[in-house]
Amino acid sequence: MDADVIVVGAGLAGLAAAHELTAAGKKVALLDQENAANLGGQAWWSFGGLFFVGSPEQRRARIADSVELAWADWQNSAGFDRLADEDSQAVKWARAYVEFAAGEKRAWLASLGMSWLPFAGWAERGDLRANGHGNSVPRFHITWGTGTGVVAPFAASAVRAAENGLLRLRSRHRVDALIVENGVVTGVRGVLLAPDDAARGVSSNRDVTGDFELRAQAVVVTTGGIGANHDLVREYWPQRLGTPPTTMITGVPAYVDGRMLAIAETAGARLVNRDRMWHYTEGVQNWNPVWPGHGIRILSAPSPMWFDALGRRLPAPYFPSYDTLGTLRHLRTTPEIAGYDHSWFILSQKMIEKEFALSGSEQNPDVTAADRRAFMKERLFGKGAPAPVEAFKQHGADFVVAATLEELVAGMNKLTDQPLLDAAAIRAQVEARDAQIANKVTKDAQIQGIHNSRRYLGDKIGRTSAPHRILDPAAGPLIGVKLHILTRKTLGGIQTDLDSRALDLAGAPLPGLYAAGEVAGFGGGGVHGYNALEGTFLGGCLFSGRNAGRHAARSL
Ligand SMILES: Cc1cc2nc3c(=O)[nH]c(=O)nc-3n(C[C@H](O)[C@H](O)[C@H](O)COP(=O)(O)OP(=O)(O)OC[C@H]3O[C@@H](n4cnc5c(N)ncnc54)[C@H](O)[C@@H]3O)c2cc1C
Repeated sequence: MDADVIVVGAGLAGLAAAHELTAAGKKVALLDQENAANLGGQAWWSFGGLFFVGSPEQRRARIADSVELAWADWQNSAGFDRLADEDSQAVKWARAYVEFAAGEKRAWLASLGMSWLPFAGWAERGDLRANGHGNSVPRFHITWGTGTGVVAPFAASAVRAAENGLLRLRSRHRVDALIVENGVVTGVRGVLLAPDDAARGVSSNRDVTGDFELRAQAVVVTTGGIGANHDLVREYWPQRLGTPPTTMITGVPAYVDGRMLAIAETAGARLVNRDRMWHYTEGVQNWNPVWPGHGIRILSAPSPMWFDALGRRLPAPYFPSYDTLGTLRHLRTTPEIAGYDHSWFILSQKMIEKEFALSGSEQNPDVTAADRRAFMKERLFGKGAPAPVEAFKQHGADFVVAATLEELVAGMNKLTDQPLLDAAAIRAQVEARDAQIANKVTKDAQIQGIHNSRRYLGDKIGRTSAPHRILDPAAGPLIGVKLHILTRKTLGGIQTDLDSRALDLAGAPLPGLYAAGEVAGFGGGGVHGYNALEGTFLGGCLFSGRNAGRHAARSL
């Protein structure tokens, strides 16, 4: 035996599993195709937003949340409809995860040194129905340190375990097969990739210098999703979301290649819910890319107006921060626009200053450095937009800034092959919207949403600008942003039971094999069902990785 347990994938799920295993005194071989600089995987790049239910941050802001409300939201969003089959484990995971998020999750992570911004963000507000998709209340708790702060205690644990002889990190080991003997997974086979000193997130070479074979009592697969593999995204793109876009930008590093899913399937694991994915409609091309096709997601508060490729305002509830997949479906299935891969935000300078956040640790240096003073200065008391947002405004290929709407639309039209936008038609829609600002009451659903947002102190202070006319020169200049579809998360994958044991085609645990994190659809092969409530991915890695590590440690 080369170790008690082999963990394939040194992202957050793999680190969480390794943390439990080494805490129980087990010897771990932690394999990754990338170099050691990439420890933590995607989570390091993440915004560090975590889904908690009934948190002190919510209570302080007088948000009444409960496990019942969160469970209702989860079920309404997930829409589990394969309960006898592909969702049979997922629904159990969902219930367990909501209880975890309402229970020990926060205290556990706090005990490892994590802390969170004073106000929860309100992601995925939903589709305007009490029993529809979405978070009834703000639940997105951003970690001080962003994703780097979430990874830090688990990376430190791996380093400590390595010093104590309990863990060996084997970088540049790409697993190409699981070894199965007499129906039991007993190890892995693969190739050694040539050393590469690429910086974190930068694509590395795939030159093969040799091969390897390692054996252990159990193998935990934590190899992430398919987001960087557009071929796989297209192959599994569901009909309900129309046709896949011809061009997409990429929200994850190239190593999120999805190869391991087919490898696990060959070994006998069952893959489920492969048609469920979570891609964003507010992606912009990174002017300073790290990985190929690197796109950044704008997390906007609800004020910017959203237009389709033909310049028509999106209907309710497709407003910024409401309904990710509903918006994607609208854009991809409405016949006149389905052939275009982009949509548009139009907003004021006053809006961008308060309402644009960019997802990613490197796009939030103040929070990533846990620099409270810089955060206050930049986001609450500073003049202008936060520096990374301003940099996109200045250098981003998708941003247009102009003093008048006609100039703005002319600039936006230059970003597409044909001039599809009509300035007069856009003016009419913006003026109609602006006319709804004068009163506290309004018939415009988006402006109702702005008022609703500002009833929550966290949004009022830091996220949602006071209602104003977009065409008010004092709020200018005007900004247009071309938005692309950005690939990110995989909601289906290896079906697992609540102990993260991979199941076979007959629904029985495949001896010796565990799966956790995104490769397992974050638990059960699809804990989110069709729709996510956000901040649930990192937590899903931690919960499923922890369960895998604990069960494997107990049963060896
Ligand atoms: C910019 C960004 C922002 C995000 N923000 C949030 C957020 O705020 N909240 C939230 O909940 N989630 C967020 N996410 C999502 C979350 O970070 C990921 O879903 C999660 O980190 C996935 O972790 P993982 O351990 O499952 O996989 P990964 O992090 O993808 O790690 C998998 C590892 O396996 C390795 N690997 C793959 N195949 C092989 C193989 N065959 N052999 C050897 N090694 C292999 C890869 O090299 C990689 O290191 C964000 C993601 C990104 C990119």
